Amino acid sequence: MIDRHLLRLRRNFDGEVLTRDHAGYDSARRPVGAAGATRRPLVVLRCRSVRDVVAAVGYARDTGVALAVRGGGHCFAGRSSTDGVLIDVSGLGNVDLSDDGRVTVGAGVRLGQLYGALHARGQTLPAGCGATVGIAGLVLGGGIGLLGRRHGLTCDRLIAATVVLADGSVVDCDEHRDPDLFWALHGAGGGQFGVVTSLRLATITEPMTARIVLTCPEADPARVVALWQASAPDAPDCISTSLELTSEPGRPVRAIVSGVALDADRADEWLHDLARGVAAGARVFVADPVPFTVAKQALADPRQDVGDGRLRSEYFTRAMPADAVTALITLLGGRGARHRRRLTFTPMGGAYNRVAPAATAFVHRRERYLLEHVGHRSDSWVDASWTLAHRHSSHRVYPNFPDPLLDRPADAYWGANHARLAAVKRSYDPQHVFDFPQALGHGRQPTKGNP
Ligand SMILES: Cc1cc2nc3c(=O)[nH]c(=O)nc-3n(C[C@H](O)[C@H](O)[C@H](O)COP(=O)(O)OP(=O)(O)OC[C@H]3O[C@@H](n4cnc5c(N)ncnc54)[C@H](O)[C@@H]3O)c2cc1C
Repeated sequence: MIDRHLLRLRRNFDGEVLTRDHAGYDSARRPVGAAGATRRPLVVLRCRSVRDVVAAVGYARDTGVALAVRGGGHCFAGRSSTDGVLIDVSGLGNVDLSDDGRVTVGAGVRLGQLYGALHARGQTLPAGCGATVGIAGLVLGGGIGLLGRRHGLTCDRLIAATVVLADGSVVDCDEHRDPDLFWALHGAGGGQFGVVTSLRLATITEPMTARIVLTCPEADPARVVALWQASAPDAPDCISTSLELTSEPGRPVRAIVSGVALDADRADEWLHDLARGVAAGARVFVADPVPFTVAKQALADPRQDVGDGRLRSEYFTRAMPADAVTALITLLGGRGARHRRRLTFTPMGGAYNRVAPAATAFVHRRERYLLEHVGHRSDSWVDASWTLAHRHSSHRVYPNFPDPLLDRPADAYWGANHARLAAVKRSYDPQHVFDFPQALGHGRQPTKGNP
């Protein structure tokens, strides 16, 4: 029966149809990380156009097989992998920048490609760090990045989107047309309302940016955390610094503060204040300002190391007490660790928090920082560390860092916006065609294929 549908699909489909016997199937089915890597879709549909996406959604609907949508394939929970129909939009690769600074981006575009195209015209976007991360996945879950404290989330720049819905209809939405759907696309998390085929975003003039670093090899890491927690989330918007604590087997825990500044002089002053507090040989580095895209290239992608490891995270509305920080660091550097471990504190505040929680689907507008726990997938430290910090967290989780182990995922991802999001889901995808564990309304409607 599926073959008959496949024959019909091919008549309306210009992209690639990769079944399990196809030479390119194995590389096409694999996501970037370990999550979902063992999934073997019945078919991978590599779309090249909106028409292809309509045909692909129709194929999944007609066969009754579960589907998953994939852009850049980076989902930490494997939500862009399936044993059913994999709708891959990576072929939708257009980037069209108009003179008014608005850019229309195909859903298959990766951040590196987008930054490059915008940089050539003196523009950019406040977006994430990973060059291969998909713009659609990033926007649909929020979009945190080095310019965020000044310019907000990537989804805050969204002006319009084109979406293929479960019934095959194509909707152009913005604040006037299908406004509830448009609202929901601002950071609720991808793959839940339809397949987004393109996004229209308001770019910003590319700022000159200085890379900034504070190293403190001899300092007590707990002291660095205390100082960073007290100052980085309230720093001027022009300063964005993450704090990374790493432990390598057999070595002491290392703390490093790094990021970018739009005003090098203010950053120099701010970093020297921090360095005085840290004492113990702290060193400040402020690079000469260069265009943002160039400064970014010199910074390592902090999440590249997740690879086949695991990332768990939460938001914090308040600073963590000193005894909890000490316990966290003791655990991080614990004896017997066989793999690298990382804790990263990312500052919120600034423009992120100047948007009301209900103004967009992204509810997390009162948080001070995000804390990531990253380790090897066999390392139980990730869970122990997360549990320790959880007692002091706001119990809220960034939708783009999904965590399959959450007890109350709807509260964690959507908080007070959950009821409105559930209503949008009911009206745009009543049959739960776009579904996965933890999706809006998951389990209310039987679906085939995915667990
Ligand atoms: C190396 C790395 C670096 C990262 N850096 C950052 C960062 O700096 N800032 C930040 O905020 N996040 C960052 N992230 C997290 C990233 O934002 C999410 O993983 C994001 O969802 C990835 O999108 P994707 O298209 O690459 O992944 P996918 O796995 O393809 O998609 C992610 C989710 O979105 C859905 N989706 C994708 N495309 C569409 C579409 N066209 N229509 C509907 N649904 C769609 C998928 O079904 C899935 O549920 C990083 C992740 C990694 C692995």
